[in-house]
Amino acid sequence: MNYVLSDSITQPITTDNFLAVEITNSKQTSHIIKVLNEKYPLPHHKHLRRVKSVLVEGRKTLHVLLCAVADAADPTASCHHTILKDTGIPSEALAAESYHCQAASRQPVTRAQYDEACKLWPTFFHEDQELEKKLGLIAMSEFDKKCMNLAYQLSNHGKGGFKCGAVIADTDSQRVMGVGYSMSDAHPLKHSVMVAIDSVAHQQGGGAWSSTARITSQYCSEISPASPKAKKKKMETGREEDYICTGYTAYLTHEPCTMCAMSLLHSRIKHVHYEMATKSGALGSQYSLHYDPQLNHNFTVTRKQLDELPSD
Ligand SMILES: [Zn+2]
Repeated sequence: MNYVLSDSITQPITTDNFLAVEITNSKQTSHIIKVLNEKYPLPHHKHLRRVKSVLVEGRKTLHVLLCAVADAADPTASCHHTILKDTGIPSEALAAESYHCQAASRQPVTRAQYDEACKLWPTFFHEDQELEKKLGLIAMSEFDKKCMNLAYQLSNHGKGGFKCGAVIADTDSQRVMGVGYSMSDAHPLKHSVMVAIDSVAHQQGGGAWSSTARITSQYCSEISPASPKAKKKKMETGREEDYICTGYTAYLTHEPCTMCAMSLLHSRIKHVHYEMATKSGALGSQYSLHYDPQLNHNFTVTRKQLDELPSD
C-alpha cells in the first residue's frame, strides 16, 4: 500500500524565470550577495540560494541570481545594467552579459524534488524523514490484513449501491471497535462507514441505529479478545478530549464518499486505509479532505497499490 499525499508532495517542482550572471571577481561574492539581498531581495523565493557554483572545463565559476523576471521592471538584459547602477556593484565584478534561467518556484519538500530543483539552481532543504518514509510502499501488518479481510467479509452482506465493508480498529490494542456494511436499501445515510462509526458509538454506550447494535455484537470481538490496553482506551473515550474514533484506524473496501470522509474526520479518525478508489471518492480521487488545511482535523490515508492483489 502507499500513502495518499498532497500534490505539493507528489508533483514535480514548478519553476520561475530568473535573470542571472556570472561573477567574474569571486573576491567580491560576499559583497555582491549582501547588496543584492538589500536592493533586490527575492521575497517569493527565499528557498533559493543566491549563488551557485558551476564547473566549466574543470574550472569552478560562480553565478548569482540578479532578480526574478516577474519582479523585474525591465525583464531584458538591460536590467543587468540597471541593477549594477542601483547596487553600486563594480561592473568588472560581473560578466558583461546576463542570461535567463529557471529555478524552483517553491520550497522542495521531498528529497526527489530537492534533487530536481538543484539541477536548475540550488535551494535550501530540510529533509523530513517521516515524510520520506511515506513516499515508498508500506507493508501491511498481520493485524491490518485481518481487519481488511473482515471488511471484505462484511461487504458481502452489503445491500443498495456499492457493496462496501468497513472496520474501525484500535491498532495499539489490536481490537476491532466497530464494523459496517452498506445498508442504503434501508436508509440513504447507511453507508458502510456511517454504520461502522455508529457501531463504535454502540461500543461506547451510544449509537443511533438498532441494526448496528446487532452486527457490532456479532463481529467486534472476532479478531482478538479485549486486552487491558483496549479496556483503558475504552475508558479514555469518555474524556472530553476524545471523540468517537480518536486514535483509531478505519479499514475500508472502497474509498469513502464526501459524507463518509467528513464523518471520519468529525469522529477524529487517526488513519484510513482503503483498497478501491471510487470516482466520487473524497480521500484522493475527487477530493482530498484528509489534508485540507481549512478543516479542523487531518489524518493519514493509505490505499492499495494497483499491482497488489487482494489478500485471501
Ligand atoms: Zn459514503
